[in-house]
Amino acid sequence: MSKKWKIQFALLLLVIGILIGLFSMKNEKNIYQVETNIKETASYVQSISSVVTSSKKLNQLLEEQIKAQEQFFQDQIKDTTHSFLIDREELNIDYQFEIIDDNIWNVSLITSMTGPSFSYPYYRIDCWTWNPKKEKEVDLEGVTSVPLEFSTIRNQVFEELKKECPSCISRKSFQEIFTESFKNFQITEHGVIFYFNPFLFEDDYYDIIPIPLEMNLFSFKRNSQTKEFEQESFVPPSKIIDPKKPVVALTFDDGPSQYTEEIIEILKENEVNATFFILGNKVTAYQEILKRSIQNGNELGNHSYNHQWMSQLSTNQLIEQIEKTQNILKETTGYTPRYLRPTYGSITNRIRKNTELEIALWTVDTRDWKIHNINRIVERATDNIKDGDVILMHDIFERSKEALKKIIPKLKEKGFQFVTMSELEEVKNLRNIKDL
Ligand code: ZN
Repeated sequence: MSKKWKIQFALLLLVIGILIGLFSMKNEKNIYQVETNIKETASYVQSISSVVTSSKKLNQLLEEQIKAQEQFFQDQIKDTTHSFLIDREELNIDYQFEIIDDNIWNVSLITSMTGPSFSYPYYRIDCWTWNPKKEKEVDLEGVTSVPLEFSTIRNQVFEELKKECPSCISRKSFQEIFTESFKNFQITEHGVIFYFNPFLFEDDYYDIIPIPLEMNLFSFKRNSQTKEFEQESFVPPSKIIDPKKPVVALTFDDGPSQYTEEIIEILKENEVNATFFILGNKVTAYQEILKRSIQNGNELGNHSYNHQWMSQLSTNQLIEQIEKTQNILKETTGYTPRYLRPTYGSITNRIRKNTELEIALWTVDTRDWKIHNINRIVERATDNIKDGDVILMHDIFERSKEALKKIIPKLKEKGFQFVTMSELEEVKNLRNIKDL
């Protein structure tokens, strides 16, 4: 290599280096993503939502905790066989993630296990107070610059706990659990909430007990999370649907995810729209993508808050799953879904009775959650498709995104027009009028 070339080569490396640097800086802004992992077998259903943050160490801790809970669940249910699908066991893990300030994140995983193998529901919460700069967990002392009177805090917490459940735990056992290194707490605006898991208790008690304690000890200022929502008016692109020609509705469940952005781009490039049945616990993390999706003319539907098995929930829990999602979407994007797609596609009268949303299932299942071969997903979404079909896909897999690129042109070739769930209903109504 001549000297001149060496210099040019070095310059090239420098440019690449700068580009990589810029790229990773851009990615750092993206502090976290939310991932959902859903499984369904003949004996159980499970849904796990967790954050993948910019801190690898934290991600690893979360993964380990999730794995341990999955193992515990499998150990509990391994000898059970069920004659009815409605008798299946359920594992649900949901997350909470809050950025308190540059140095403190609240992260929690909330686990529930229910089903025939559990005499009562198994609940637990696991919290991490994380310093992303130091890449480590911090204890109560680590979040304040003021010296803490730990024994006073301990007494207060014990008294509060006793009010909630007098015979849950003796003072002696409590003192063994609640030490300076007790990590199950979340920082709030007014202080701390300590969480006590039922498995710590001597008494039969299956709820998690939160003990909020007001403390003005914190020297840091919370990031003021002002909810500045400008009422954007969504004007979907105008389009013409010919009710005389065949229509098909593409629907995506369980998102948004890291793939949703590209999926809505693919839809836009092809000038088609789809309906996304979203989970409420992902709205905050993906609000910008959701807004763009709505602006592009896509429809959003409600698919519960954290993918609990809706047909197994109590009425109150069911309403909470639906309303929480409606509310967070309204607050963050101004959008109100019209349709509900119950989790695991199972509907009960209770669901019908307790929501004003219209129930929207599907007629064609691509099984993209199970099938990894892109061409097979494409075949399932394009072979034997009839006028008015609703195709089920998931915007949480890369393969589904890849399949979509082939599905759209193939269906267009067959003469299909792409409609959202609302448009499908409109087309059906128009056709009924014409029939009269
Ligand atoms: Zn789902």
